Amino acid sequence: MEKEVSLSVKCPLCDSSFMDERHPIYGKPSVKVNIETEHDRGVLRLCCIYGNSSKTTDVLIEDGEIAAVFCPHCNKELSINEDCEVCGAPLISMVIKAGGKIRICSRNGCANHHLVFQEISQELSKFYFEYGF
Ligand SMILES: [Zn+2]
Ligand SMILES: [Zn+2]
Repeated sequence: MEKEVSLSVKCPLCDSSFMDERHPIYGKPSVKVNIETEHDRGVLRLCCIYGNSSKTTDVLIEDGEIAAVFCPHCNKELSINEDCEVCGAPLISMVIKAGGKIRICSRNGCANHHLVFQEISQELSKFYFEYGF
């Protein structure tokens, strides 16, 4: 059985936590951010388990539509100056509290996401140690 890795993330700009314990997904706190599409704005909740792309939202996002993602605390946009290598949409960046960053594609339906570790050797060894590869 594969081990689950759940991530605790925060805003790279104001350092506030995105974790919402009142609205769990799969028994874990959800990652709550604000989103804005061409027609609407609302709340997006992501599953914090790495590799699980489950999400809930009160906004209707069409398949393939790109949503702008904002911090619910400082209201700044979380997109970075980098495009998804799969579909070309802007990537969203969040800081992992344990260290490193996660990047997520802003296009609905694109499951591209990856982790970026700042100090590769240290973070990787922690990863290997904690998850037993
Ligand atoms: Zn913020
Ligand atoms: Zn993409």
